[in-house]
Amino acid sequence: MRLVLDTHTHTIASGHAFSTIIENAREAFRKGLQLICITDHGPEMPGGPHIYYFGNLKVIPEKIEGVEILKGVEANIMDEEGRIDLPERILKKLDIVIASLHDECFEPSEDVERNTKALINAIKNPYVDIIGHPGNPIYPIDIERVLEAAKEYGKFIEINNSSFVTSRRGSEKICPIIAGKAKEMGVRVAVGSDAHICFDVGRFDEAIRLLEDINMPEELVLNTSVDKVKQYLQEKRKRIGGGQNSWN
Ligand SMILES: [Zn+2]
Ligand SMILES: [Zn+2]
Repeated sequence: MRLVLDTHTHTIASGHAFSTIIENAREAFRKGLQLICITDHGPEMPGGPHIYYFGNLKVIPEKIEGVEILKGVEANIMDEEGRIDLPERILKKLDIVIASLHDECFEPSEDVERNTKALINAIKNPYVDIIGHPGNPIYPIDIERVLEAAKEYGKFIEINNSSFVTSRRGSEKICPIIAGKAKEMGVRVAVGSDAHICFDVGRFDEAIRLLEDINMPEELVLNTSVDKVKQYLQEKRKRIGGGQNSWN
């Protein structure tokens, strides 16, 4: 399976990542990617960018070093109601919104009901596009219910390559279950490198292995063509009633 775009990358603005947008774009070009999403952590992440950073993403060109750039965020899910750490007036301006659970913002617990509700409520937020790294074992969830909600609301479940490599130990056991169920239920997935340094942009080795292992149909994988992303952004625009993203 060939993936031509990366939906999840961080820059120095995240506070604990090490490359600039230009360095990320260059690496993406070198690896043959056509598009990357810049998805720095939301403002509630310690060391994360101020809200003004997201308001000013408009100054970034639509293409850098031959690679299309989508402007987004990896927002923090803050509570069981699925609230995220950017207001609507900013979310409106972003192309891609990933919503994730992080222990700095959402206390890890074995409470499956609470974790499941948090993800489902985030899925219901019309601005949220992707649920980030849902296979994190510190947040056990009812996988089927989360996937059902993703399907109902037309959202993506992330297959996060770094969950197999550097982060969230134990995810490698849960992610194949999530991916298998997504295939069975016809839920779309988005593959993100979650790069925190340019060299990892477009690193999909483990995610591709997993998708190939389970014979995931290409039509369920967002990353196989830029057209799919553009189609999805149209879908999103309808959902949020206009919106001011780069594609307007
Ligand atoms: Zn994350
Ligand atoms: Zn991330």
